[in-house]
Amino acid sequence: MIHEILPVGLLQCNCSIFGDEQTREAIVVDPGGNIGEIESILERHGLRVKAIVITHAHIDHVAGAKLLKENTNAPVYMNPSDQESLTMLDVQARWLGVAPPERVDVDMDARDSVSLRLNEAEFHVMETPGHTPGSISLYIPTERKLVAGDTLFKDSIGRTDLPGGDSWQILSSIKTRLLLLPDETVVVPGHGALTTIGREKECNPFLRGL
Ligand SMILES: [Zn+2]
Repeated sequence: MIHEILPVGLLQCNCSIFGDEQTREAIVVDPGGNIGEIESILERHGLRVKAIVITHAHIDHVAGAKLLKENTNAPVYMNPSDQESLTMLDVQARWLGVAPPERVDVDMDARDSVSLRLNEAEFHVMETPGHTPGSISLYIPTERKLVAGDTLFKDSIGRTDLPGGDSWQILSSIKTRLLLLPDETVVVPGHGALTTIGREKECNPFLRGL
């Protein structure tokens, strides 16, 4: 499996590009910006985008989705509980003092039990609300990887002080969903360095006593 991670946009959101070597199909997660750069990676590997997945509707994760969708015709997956936040992209832009991006139309609901496929690999949607009501993670068991959006970071967890955030809920999502994954699962957070489930169980100060 091809997996390229590139920090995009003003807040350096980790965008993941997964590609299958045989079918040359790709899934792009959180195209928050730098769409030209994302497209040149796709081109370099000869990949065609099959799906665009948004872990949550914060501007830094979703800002480039409309352009990428226009250029690739790929369907956009997002959890419906973040639709309200998506309609507030202009408000989010004002918080950051940036121009509001064009809003993408969501095609498919990313809910529990929804799975996307790249050849043999399954990408399972896990609802992990708390950072936002519709935050999701993507678990790829055959790759032993979790794309965690802004739910879990190396040594930290997602902030819950923005509208729709819920600090009890994010801890519950982490405890009852993410920490049940195998320790060796590599976590690709929405920002910053990669980690593993095992390491965060041991070392993450926000998860002590869970
Ligand atoms: Zn966020």
